[in-house]
Parts: sequence; C-alpha cells; structure tokens
Amino acid sequence: MNASLNPVTRHNWTLAEVTALLQQPFNDLIFTAQTVHRQHFNANRVQVSTLLSIKTGACPEDCKYCPQSGHYNTGLDKEKLMEVQKVLEEAQRAKDIGSTRFCMGAAWKHPSAKDLPYVLEMVKGVKAMGMETCMTLGKLDQEQTQALADAGLDYYNHNLDTSPEFYGNIITTRTYAQRLETLSYVRDAGMKICSGGILGMGESIADRAGLLMQLANLPEHPESVPINMLVKVAGTPLENAEDVDPFDFIRMLAVARIMMPLSHVRLSAGREQMNEQMQSLAFLAGANSIFYGEKLLTTGNPQADKDMQLFERLGIKPEAHEEYADEVHQAAIEHALIEQRDSSLFYDAATH
Ligand code: SF4
Repeated sequence: MNASLNPVTRHNWTLAEVTALLQQPFNDLIFTAQTVHRQHFNANRVQVSTLLSIKTGACPEDCKYCPQSGHYNTGLDKEKLMEVQKVLEEAQRAKDIGSTRFCMGAAWKHPSAKDLPYVLEMVKGVKAMGMETCMTLGKLDQEQTQALADAGLDYYNHNLDTSPEFYGNIITTRTYAQRLETLSYVRDAGMKICSGGILGMGESIADRAGLLMQLANLPEHPESVPINMLVKVAGTPLENAEDVDPFDFIRMLAVARIMMPLSHVRLSAGREQMNEQMQSLAFLAGANSIFYGEKLLTTGNPQADKDMQLFERLGIKPEAHEEYADEVHQAAIEHALIEQRDSSLFYDAATH
C-alpha cells in the first residue's frame, strides 16, 4: 500500500515529539513499539536480505565512518566492478540460503556511463531469479534513476546518515540536499526507498531525533529503514568514537517503528557485534529485517547458520516477500478500521 495514502502514517513530526519518544521510560517505549508492530506485521517474521559489494574501496566521498573512502588508509583491498556473471552466482547462493532480496553496493560517488550498462545487466539477471533487487551506487541523476527502474530495480538504498545539522561533521563531499534529491528521483521513478542512518558518530539525541524526523516527514516513508551501529574501523576518523549505550540503540529502533509503522526497520551494520539478547530485544522493539553479509557468501555461512538458530530459538521465520505484501496490505486495512474506533494509542505514543 502506498504509505502516503494510509491513515496511520504521519509526515509532520516535530523534534520535540520525537525527542520525547526517544526519552520515554524504556518499558513504555518497547510496549508501544511492539503494539504498533503487531498492528502491521506478523511479529514472528523477519525479512532477510543479502548484501554484496560489487565494487569495493577507493570511493571519492569522505564519509568519516567508512573504510571504503579513498580519503582514509584502512588497508582495505580495493576491487574493480565485479563481472556480471560472478554477481549472478553470488545472488543464486544468497537465494539458496533463504534471502529474498539481493542488495548490491558500489563505492562510487555516482555510477559512470561506462559502468551503468553492467549494473543494469545485474539488476535484470537477479530479477530473473525471482529475487527482489536493491542497489546502492551513490548519487543518481534522473536519467540513471529511470534506467535502473526500467531494468526492474525494486529498491534504491541511499542513507541520510544523521540529522541535517550534524551531517557536515561526517561528510563534506556530498550535501544533504543532494541526498534528498536522489531520494526524490528514486521515488518519482516508482522505486522503493531504503534509507536510514548510523548511531555512534558523536551525534546528540536531538540529531538522532532529527534523522528520524527527516525520514518520517518525507512525502512517503521509506519502505526500508536501516538503523546502523557504527562499526569502528582503524584508519577512519571515527575509529575511537564513543560507544553507544545499547539501550539507546534499541530506543532508536523502537521510535523508528512507531514513526514509520508500515516500513521494514532493518537491524543493519553492527549486528555482528551484538549478542543474541540484544538482537532479540531489537526484534521486540520492531526491527524486522536483517542482512546476511557478503563474507558470509564465501565462508560456508557460519553467521547465517547462527542467525537461523537464533530465529528458531525465538520462533521467528524468514519472511517471504509475497507474504509481506499481503500481510502489510491486510494489516493496513484492519488497522484503518481500528483507528476509526480508537486512535488513542498511536497519538499517545507520538506526544508523550
Ligand atoms: S559514499 Fe558510500 S562507499 Fe563512499 S565513502 Fe561514503 S559510505 Fe563509503
């Protein structure tokens, strides 16, 4: 369902409201988030994506958290754009381990005219396997966006990273306005948006609230909202950043769930550093999407096995994408009916 047409989505959040949500007593916040989650999703399903880096390192951007930036020396092996056939082989392996979406990332400022045709072939090939496709290739112009949409790309990932106010402390080579412009092109071309941010870069609570406000106040909510915990990589300017309180991270997931009730909230980078208890708390707060990483495709997938064992212990099953579409649609209809009867819960959550 188009989120902007749904009566449960709001696009006029204020900083005071979002900050108040982030600062609620923990148990109240989790209860509200889980309640909202159950109104829109099967609480025991988690969507599983696989991420593959199709071009690694030497990125001209200067994102201070990123080991792929050419501005920092992190000892990362640089790789050219992967061959189409190799990407398709990796996609098949991702499908075999239960992923329903294949995300391909390239460390570029923007795709070049030389590389774009190969990227389009990748999208077509992965689509033909029956998987959803997602790409993250940096800034796009309108023509490139349309070409990706025409090739069958389902999702485009482009993170806002943090609040507009804090953004300049983290990235200087691309503006916040350019990011929003790329997101608007993606939306106009009819694709779904994956956009979120990172905690642990030295941002304040107001910056976290500001990020969520930017995302939720877009004309339509991003269908996928990755919330990342900074992975501190030696050689990047943030290698010694202060740790985030794990409960504050869970709070961020919970507030994202409340503000964007129809979106998939993705427990994203940093998950491998979280213990099982924290991951289960994240699911309780409304996170319902995870990544299997790239390495996992080439090392016998020990992490994938571990993830599946955790799912089993928690009674969670990976979500099939047909199931998602039906469930969200049905839940949205049901919720609209409930809303007419009793709107107190959602608006209480928003204002207290
Ligand atoms: S644009 Fe992407 S790959 Fe490049 S430095 Fe920033 S986060 Fe890293």
